[in-house]
Amino acid sequence: MKYFSLNHNTKNTSFRDAVIRGLAPDRGLYFPEKIPTLPKRFFDRIEGMSIPQMAYKVIKPFVGKQINKKKLKEIVTETLDFEFPLIEITDNIAALELFQGPTLAFKDVGARFMARALGHFNKGANKKITVLVATSGDTGGAVANGFLGVEGVNVVILYPKGKVSDIQEKQLTTLGQNITALEVDGVFDDCQEMVKTAFLDNSLASVQLTSANSINVARWLPQMFYYFIAYRALKHKNKKLVFSVPSGNFGNICAGIMGQQMGLPIAHFIASTNVNDSVPRYLDTGSYDPMPTVQTISNAMDVGNPSNFIRIQKIFNNDLFRMKKNLSGYAYTDDQTKKALKEIYAEKKYVADPHGAVGYLGLKEYLHQHAEDLYGVFLETAHPIKFIDTVEKTLKLKVPVPERLKETLSKEKESISIRDYRDLKSYLLD
Ligand SMILES: *Cc1c(COP(=O)(O)O)cnc(C)c1O
Repeated sequence: MKYFSLNHNTKNTSFRDAVIRGLAPDRGLYFPEKIPTLPKRFFDRIEGMSIPQMAYKVIKPFVGKQINKKKLKEIVTETLDFEFPLIEITDNIAALELFQGPTLAFKDVGARFMARALGHFNKGANKKITVLVATSGDTGGAVANGFLGVEGVNVVILYPKGKVSDIQEKQLTTLGQNITALEVDGVFDDCQEMVKTAFLDNSLASVQLTSANSINVARWLPQMFYYFIAYRALKHKNKKLVFSVPSGNFGNICAGIMGQQMGLPIAHFIASTNVNDSVPRYLDTGSYDPMPTVQTISNAMDVGNPSNFIRIQKIFNNDLFRMKKNLSGYAYTDDQTKKALKEIYAEKKYVADPHGAVGYLGLKEYLHQHAEDLYGVFLETAHPIKFIDTVEKTLKLKVPVPERLKETLSKEKESISIRDYRDLKSYLLD
């Protein structure tokens, strides 16, 4: 499988090269030359396969021969080494919990896969790769954890001092080994700016820098697994399936749509957003008119101009009519989100997080408008403990701290304080 840039201004390249580069040299997002399809017998036999066996067959055509069979199997097995429970909320609605991984957010799967793929590609090279990431919270934790102990790769995370939650800070600063946290005296945009400057800085040529940004194909494509996992678990119901995906940068939902294009029987996708509603508005009006980002209680989805949307447009060949047959979009305010948290709790005593609650709202609205006999899944993308203030205040209860988080919280924070780009540069060159 070759990958091309959606800016169409650079040569097609291999999976390996796309993973190492992240973004194409013309700054475009990589996209596979063609979308592979899975044979009918794959879907007929899906319930008899283990999750890693299934996932291997899903990702294999995208990787081709660039990672051998044995290694790729090992990578997917390690990547998916936790549970993906489906929790029934009503007769025809279930939550798919994607937060059972080490950092309690769904980004673990993409980060773990990418880390292992990159580590594999750099094996035996005499030069280490340095992954440089700026984080406003969740991404950094998932990336750091995913890369922990991966040989040949160092991870340097920049985070704004005092601007991430306590849980997030602990997840970034307590890992040790090949992970270093740089605490920046500034805001997230300063961190982001420094990372961008470093990538363009020729005097850092001796350091092999890469990003673990969510646009990397090795973070994006493994998210397809969730939809196959849910289908495998729900196939026996013999119902048409629809998925509601709480969306920010639209990587997760775009992966789901790729799965559908590969043959996974999904009747419809619902993009559920907070008030950062560029895509739902586009689906309504046909004009894409991104707006500045607005802060909300579902802050991992505070994205005004979602970077993966261009990949969704590509899947449907920029045909709005075709897109709308497969995808609906709904947006919700913080007040509606809080009401949904209460409703889900009243329904099944289930404690959702604000992102999942937005997904639930979109699903309910779609099911309400479609009388067919559908079964809906909304993705629960984060553990409620990560949004403890909102959840506890809204539901008036205590969220128990999961064991794996207790361990992280008990460790000592270790970080290096930096003030400006000069500090970052001297750290990287050291
Ligand atoms: C990143 C994130 C999202 C949004 O996912 P995208 O792939 O960017 O659309 C939703 N919920 C949580 C908890 C996240 O961390």
